[in-house]
Amino acid sequence: MLTTDGSGKIHILPADVVSRIAAGEVVERPAAVVKELVENSLDAGSRTITVDIKDGGLALIRVTDDGEGMSRDDAPRAFDRHATSKLRSDQDLWSIRTMGFRGEALPSIASISHVRVTTAMRSAEVGTEFQVKSGTIGKVVEAPPVAGTRMEVAELFYNQPARKKFLKSIPTEFSHISRVVQQTALAWPSVHFRLTHNGQEILNYPAALSDKDRIGQVYRRMFLDQSVPLQAEQPAARISGYTIDAVHAKSSRIPQELFVNRRPVRNTAVFHAVAEGYGPFLPKGHHPQFVLFLDVDPNLVDVNVHPTKREVRFSDNEAIHQLVRRAVRQTLGTRERSTVAPGFTLNNMEPTSESVGVSVSVSYPRPAAFPAIEASVKTSFAGMDSPAIVPPGAEAQLAFVSEAAEPYIHVPSAEVVALGQLNRTFLVVQIGGDLTVIDQHTAHERVLFERLYRAWTARGIQSQPLLIPESIELSAPHAALLQRHRGDLEKLGLELEPFGASALLVRAIPVGLGKINAESFLQDLLDDLSQWDSVSTVETKVRPVLASLACHGAVRAGRPMELPEIKTLVEDWRAEGEITTCPHGRRTSFRLGMDDLEKMFGRAGW
Ligand code: ADP
Ligand code: MG
Repeated sequence: MLTTDGSGKIHILPADVVSRIAAGEVVERPAAVVKELVENSLDAGSRTITVDIKDGGLALIRVTDDGEGMSRDDAPRAFDRHATSKLRSDQDLWSIRTMGFRGEALPSIASISHVRVTTAMRSAEVGTEFQVKSGTIGKVVEAPPVAGTRMEVAELFYNQPARKKFLKSIPTEFSHISRVVQQTALAWPSVHFRLTHNGQEILNYPAALSDKDRIGQVYRRMFLDQSVPLQAEQPAARISGYTIDAVHAKSSRIPQELFVNRRPVRNTAVFHAVAEGYGPFLPKGHHPQFVLFLDVDPNLVDVNVHPTKREVRFSDNEAIHQLVRRAVRQTLGTRERSTVAPGFTLNNMEPTSESVGVSVSVSYPRPAAFPAIEASVKTSFAGMDSPAIVPPGAEAQLAFVSEAAEPYIHVPSAEVVALGQLNRTFLVVQIGGDLTVIDQHTAHERVLFERLYRAWTARGIQSQPLLIPESIELSAPHAALLQRHRGDLEKLGLELEPFGASALLVRAIPVGLGKINAESFLQDLLDDLSQWDSVSTVETKVRPVLASLACHGAVRAGRPMELPEIKTLVEDWRAEGEITTCPHGRRTSFRLGMDDLEKMFGRAGW
């Protein structure tokens, strides 16, 4: 049942609906506030949305729209928990069409900032204005009847010093914000978006007539010129958008934008289907670039998987996979035949149109291989007792790694028996007589970090060149930041090289790391580097960078591991001191001793 006093549009959701909604922290950084406010503006039917930011959003986030506005009664009520005008019953959870649906955003935002609301309904003769301070609504006064709503969020996190400390630099926070605006703009081409930072206009996308025009505004003409339009349909789903012509594919993954029912999401099934669609058309080391819009019957997609709505679940994954794969394959197939003159071979791609339809093996985005551990299994099988993790073909570095390998903590030796892997995430082992559950990612991260750190203190970290250097496109300030610290990064085994005005080549990474996704690693690295100016010791500069390297070089959750690999990883982790957290503070292990088990089963004292 719905509680309503009948006077307005906004209702408080009943408790059973609330409990079904993925709860969680809505606001982890300024960009999250922008996202919620802009989504509210879109839900209100706005044609123009202006986002003004001061100091990366920490000083001020102001979102002004020309939407339907709120009545004098409704506006303060919007700040009640689970107050919404959008979701009526739990039935609606499965066919959500509007962007917001939890009624959580405004109260959450108001609890950690000072908010000022100015709003007027289109037909109203007078508007409404009030402030919300520390979650409490102030005096509601009249305002000029300017149709629409202006939300001003000032002093974000003023009462959350811990959260504030966790935030990155102003440029980084602002770049997250501009990403939110860009993605939203792609999803809503007919809406005019503007973004300013400290009074300077950063983005301005006037209302566009088509997805194509909007993509051109956001990703420039060049992307469109090098892309092919794609369109395909099934009874319950439809896909459209632009995807790079295989001859122009690059090693960069920008853009890789997917919208499901106009929400920006990441979805492995679709990304994988795109890669498989490219199959033989894509040179090794190159990735597809695309902006795709997938429209699925809202009853067949669950958007309520994740509190930030970044993930979706399809009720028929296979059908979606097939639709996308075929659409890409067909688009590229026709394109190839129509644009490539006979006798002309596409660079680096042997297969021609005959190969359309053959099954191909793609490695993206399946879990990265784990050469490190595999290689080290080989070494221990070969009877060498070096604990070093060595990538294939890097034997020459072995001496170096084991030489520097003198762990700080020595743990008593005990037999390690690998029992298995749980959900491809946790390793189950017996250490001595104890049952131990280990997180494969965090434990490996710790191992890599300890080794990198020791190597750094010993005599510098060796690097391994990448077979195919990856080029990453960056904003100009980011490229400059990396450029400035290139020398230092080289000492950490990381070789970057400028590549044009705003791109970088990742040439080499430290020895011992698995396959890393250079782009997401660089994102973290940029975050680390942006702190460098504010820390004094070399140590405090280096640690986070090594932690990022370790994190990206470590085996991921979801990667199946065999017993010998498990044993090697656990032994390595013990050799590094059995440290129970990863460098970022997450837990690596959980131990249940024989005593605990005996107590638990009432055996103690028998
Ligand atoms: P939700 O969007 O999930 O409903 P919010 O806390 O974001 O929850 O907003 C609560 C309610 O406030 C919305 O349902 C809507 O009725 C109203 N609201 C918020 N922002 C606006 C806006 N910009 N224009 C009109 N109404 C708004
Ligand atoms: Mg909302």
